[in-house]
Amino acid sequence: ASSSTTTVVTSIELTSLPKLARGKVRDLYQIDEHTLLFVTTDRISAYDVIMGNGVPLKGAILTQISAHWFRVLTERIPGLKTHFLTLSPPAALLTPAEQALVRARSMQVRKLKVFPLEAIVRGYITGSAWTEYQKTGTVHGLPQPAGLQQCSPFPQPIYTPSTKAELGSHDENISPAKAAEIVGERYASRIEALALQVYTAGAAYARERGIIIADTKFEFGLDEETDDIVLIDEVLTPDSSRFWPADQYEVGRDQDSFDKQYLRNWLTAEGLKYKEGVEMPAHIAEATSDRYKDAFKLLTGNTIEEALAAL
Ligand code: ATP
Ligand code: MG
Repeated sequence: ASSSTTTVVTSIELTSLPKLARGKVRDLYQIDEHTLLFVTTDRISAYDVIMGNGVPLKGAILTQISAHWFRVLTERIPGLKTHFLTLSPPAALLTPAEQALVRARSMQVRKLKVFPLEAIVRGYITGSAWTEYQKTGTVHGLPQPAGLQQCSPFPQPIYTPSTKAELGSHDENISPAKAAEIVGERYASRIEALALQVYTAGAAYARERGIIIADTKFEFGLDEETDDIVLIDEVLTPDSSRFWPADQYEVGRDQDSFDKQYLRNWLTAEGLKYKEGVEMPAHIAEATSDRYKDAFKLLTGNTIEEALAAL
C-alpha cells in the first residue's frame, strides 16, 4: 500500500478540483457537471462531534465497504440504481500527489439531486427507538407490538425516516407521513420500498457472515432525466449502521457496537463526551481501526490490505 493509505488523513485539500462540500467525514469534489469525487477521510465522530485526530485506514475501509455493497446489492436487487461509477480517481485531472492522497479512499459517483431525508431502516430495537418505545409503545410514532425487549428484532424491519439536519444540528425523527410531505407522495413510497429492500438484502448477506446490521441510514438521489431513485452516499458501513457481532448478540441488554465502542467508553471514562476536537490516544485510534478492519474482513472475506493491494 502507498503511504497515503497508511498515513492518517483528516483533511484533504485538492487544488485541482473545486470542492463542493465538506461533511463530518467526507469531502466532495466536482469532476464535471454530472460527476463527483467522493472522498472519505479518516475523520471519526462519536456522540455527534468530530475527534481531533483520525483512525488509520478508516477512509479506505469505508470506501471499500461501500464499493463492495454496490456490487453485491446490484447483483441481488434487479433494477437497483446506485451512484457508484468507479474506484479509480480521475488521473488526468489530478497531480500525482493528489492521486496518491485520494487513492483507495475515494470513488467517482454520479452527482444527483439529494432527497433531504435520512432513510432509516431498523431491524432491531435499540438507541432512540428503544427509548421512545419504552415511553409510548411507538417508534417514530408508529405503534409497535407489546413485549419487545431491548435489542429484540422487530417482527419485520421498519422504515423510520428522519430529516437531514445541517452540519452541527441534530436530525429529527419523523413519521413516514411527514416524510411524504417533504419529498412528495410520488417519491416517498418508492424510497420507503427501496430502503426496506436494500436493508433486507444487506442484512441477510451480513448475517451469513457473522454481522447483525441492527439498523442503518440510506440516502437517495433523483436522476432527473429518467425519474429513477438512486442509492447514493455510503452504504451499510459501520458509520451509517449499527453493526453487532452476531456471536455476542443477546436480547434484553445493550450490545457493543463493532466499531466505536472503545472510543465511546474512553470518552465517557475521561469525561470528554460531546467535546469538540478531542485527541484520542494512539491505542484508542488503533483499537478502533482494528474493529473497522474486522468488519471489513467479515463482510468481504478479504483483509483491507489484500483489497488495497488488488486495486
Ligand atoms: P454524517 O454522515 O456524519 O451525518 P454528513 O452526512 O454531513 O455527515 P458526509 O457523510 O461527510 O456528510 O458527506 C457526504 C455528503 O454527500 C452528504 O451530505 C450526502 O448527502 C452527499 N452525497 C452523497 N452522495 C451524493 C451524490 N451522489 N450526489 C450528491 N451528493 C451526495
Ligand atoms: Mg454521511
